Amino acid sequence: MPGWEIINDEEKKALVNLFNEGGIFFAHGFDNFRKKYHVREFETNSRNKFKSKFAVAVTSGTAAIKIALKAIGVKRGDEVITQGFNFIATIEAILDIGAIPIITNVDKSLNMSTIDLKKLITKKTKAIIPVHMLGVPAEMDEINKIAKKYKLRILEDNCEAVGGMYKNKYLGSIGDVGVASYDFSKTITCGEGGMIFTNNKKIFKYCKEYHDHGHENNPKLKRGEDSRSIVGFNYRMTELQAVVGKVQLKKIDFILKENKKRYLEIEKVLKKKYELRRIPKNSKIIYDTFIFFEKNKLKRNQIVKLLNKTKFGTKNLPDAIKWHCAYYWDHALPKQQINRVKKTNDLLKASIAIPISLKKNIKQYQDLANKILKISK
Ligand SMILES: *Cc1c(COP(=O)(O)O)cnc(C)c1O
Repeated sequence: MPGWEIINDEEKKALVNLFNEGGIFFAHGFDNFRKKYHVREFETNSRNKFKSKFAVAVTSGTAAIKIALKAIGVKRGDEVITQGFNFIATIEAILDIGAIPIITNVDKSLNMSTIDLKKLITKKTKAIIPVHMLGVPAEMDEINKIAKKYKLRILEDNCEAVGGMYKNKYLGSIGDVGVASYDFSKTITCGEGGMIFTNNKKIFKYCKEYHDHGHENNPKLKRGEDSRSIVGFNYRMTELQAVVGKVQLKKIDFILKENKKRYLEIEKVLKKKYELRRIPKNSKIIYDTFIFFEKNKLKRNQIVKLLNKTKFGTKNLPDAIKWHCAYYWDHALPKQQINRVKKTNDLLKASIAIPISLKKNIKQYQDLANKILKISK
């Protein structure tokens, strides 16, 4: 369930307060005209919540991936391995720095197949981007093992599983670097926005400086007189976004708790009949999407029709498959890679994803699940 569903007076009040405190929308400077630094607070609250040593707020999840790739040393011509069930943003970020995206198939967890990952490593491979798709963690132990063996960096794309855990560690804090998205369709939102997490001080320093034109933000120097050592760019988050983000962050536990209640009701019914998406052991999912497989096309169409008619809708599968499966990205990937992920496309085509919404109550999900069960009989 996306955070936009529960935007209310709290976010509104935070914005009004920002105006009352001086109306400074910029994250830095203007020290005499402001009472608070909200982007900095949002970063501090985020790293405390998700147990990372460092956090850097940026303009989007896509920007976060690009900056993080540069920070872990990915250069023009390097290969970066990611997965066929994904969002186009990950591929765009890799291409934008002149690196080469290499795409694995996914297994029935709908995340990176670690068997396929091993097959695709070459001398040029520099990093792996596992994506915790639709609320479920990737097999991080296995991916870590492989990365260690071949000396590869790991960037966790955690844009779709904020608040999820693997072996009691928050997603995004396990690899060398992790990213979250706070765009308007995500678990928590500030309209547009992203966050980079890391426990590595060097990676943090690079991200901090690169996203802000190279400013080192030396506390002893005034902003305009500040020192610099690298060429950067502008991917800064505004105070407007950060005040909303701070409120949304406080709501994450509530969101996950409410998701879970609804998710478990569907699961109780549909597991009797269906093969469900595989959930890796020791993981805490965020329960925002319920996914099951129906191989029979006729029945599948009937179920999708029911979901649309009853206004539950579907999430990405099947409605937005073309934005989430690399099989369709012939504008960005060579033919050979497209053909390799046909397997992923076949698996995704047999999947149905039910979005969990807080605007619908538990009874409505029970009724829905029972109606789906009837179709399958
Ligand atoms: C949303 C998303 C992104 C990009 O985030 P934006 O904030 O929209 O730029 C990247 N990767 C995945 C898997 C996503 O779902």
